[in-house]
Amino acid sequence: MPEIHTKASAIGHAECLVIGGGVIGSSIAYHAAREGHNTIMLERLLPGEGASKAAVGMLAAESEEFTDPELARFARTSRDAFPELVRELERLSGVSVEFRTEGFVTPFRSETEGHERWKAARTQENDHAEWWDARELARRIPGLDRQTIGAIYRSKETQLAPVQLCRAYAGAAAVLGASIWSGTHAKQLVVQNGRIRGVVTDKGFFTCNQVIIAGGLDSMQLLEQVGFHYPLYPVKGEAIAVSLKEHPLEYTIYADDIYLVPKQNNELWIGATSLPHHDNDEVTIAGLTGLLARASAWLPRVREASFIRTWAGLRPQAAAERPFIGAVPGLEGVYAAVGHYRNGVLLSDATGRAMAALLAGAGAVELGISGFSAECL
Ligand SMILES: Cc1cc2nc3c(=O)[nH]c(=O)nc-3n(C[C@H](O)[C@H](O)[C@H](O)COP(=O)(O)OP(=O)(O)OC[C@H]3O[C@@H](n4cnc5c(N)ncnc54)[C@H](O)[C@@H]3O)c2cc1C
Repeated sequence: MPEIHTKASAIGHAECLVIGGGVIGSSIAYHAAREGHNTIMLERLLPGEGASKAAVGMLAAESEEFTDPELARFARTSRDAFPELVRELERLSGVSVEFRTEGFVTPFRSETEGHERWKAARTQENDHAEWWDARELARRIPGLDRQTIGAIYRSKETQLAPVQLCRAYAGAAAVLGASIWSGTHAKQLVVQNGRIRGVVTDKGFFTCNQVIIAGGLDSMQLLEQVGFHYPLYPVKGEAIAVSLKEHPLEYTIYADDIYLVPKQNNELWIGATSLPHHDNDEVTIAGLTGLLARASAWLPRVREASFIRTWAGLRPQAAAERPFIGAVPGLEGVYAAVGHYRNGVLLSDATGRAMAALLAGAGAVELGISGFSAECL
């Protein structure tokens, strides 16, 4: 005999019920609340404890050199919204997201490679990318590998602290009227006559008009419950934080084989390995030694740095190789925002904003996200 769930027995009701408090779910909760939707966010742990906790926090819209034009546009729109977004989130939530705006440097050792990549960057990014030759680089980043022939400098690239970003999104959403249910595990979506009625959780039943699945890697099971097959797989990433006591780095170094990201208190975050289908979050010696060897090849003084900590996380990669942001077909009121792989922090603002607009009735085409809808997967 199936359990009967009625509105009367529910412990909460939302117009929009967001499942997952990672960087994607918490951005959706914030943008939905900002648009005036009655919103609840369910997170089985605390906001920012999933893959988002492992992220380094780069908003690398150009340095990523996306080949998919729709994703490239979406990424730039998202990154460009951050200065204003950060002001608003910090004002509302009181949480500092440690936003840094010094820009990113992509160095090269090969003349041919460097000049080809610079030519491509100049064509696509025209206004603000610069070429720094070896002399300029030596002035800007003392101690960089002497074999570096030059670098692309991208002044608009920014970075921040991802866990704080999740907390700031969630905190700001709460100030705007959303309810944040940490420690609440969504177990079962309840669909009747082709439309969402609510969600069964370990705390009780929530009714809702719209549900948004933003549970990172674990979204797959929730989507399967409503008959939608969207395969995701983990891509493990390991990273390490060290302390550069003298001459802390100013710019983020975004090389092809490694990135070095300066953080508060002279911390330098070095990442990351990329191990598809590895589903544990152990940090291996091979991973760490590889990261440190590549980092110190670009910046030899990393060898003198002191060790702080290491961590690993699982990026939610989609078999379709692009995120799914949209309505689940054939059902009323079921949406998902998943598969952000290695760019969830970067894409969080645009994803939250687009989802809030979809919930209010806007179309994917008018929002410029039709390539991320179910029909295109
Ligand atoms: C080493 C590393 C470095 C990275 N660096 C960057 C970077 O510099 N820039 C960038 O943009 N991206 C980066 N990423 C990628 C980024 O971390 C992910 O794209 C992003 O965190 C995905 O966010 P999410 O909200 O989809 O998933 P998650 O952060 O995993 O959030 C999903 C949340 O949903 C919750 N949840 C799941 N199921 C349920 C349920 N049934 N009920 C309730 N709650 C549930 C989970 O507890 C979790 O908190 C990096 C990743 C790694 C591993």
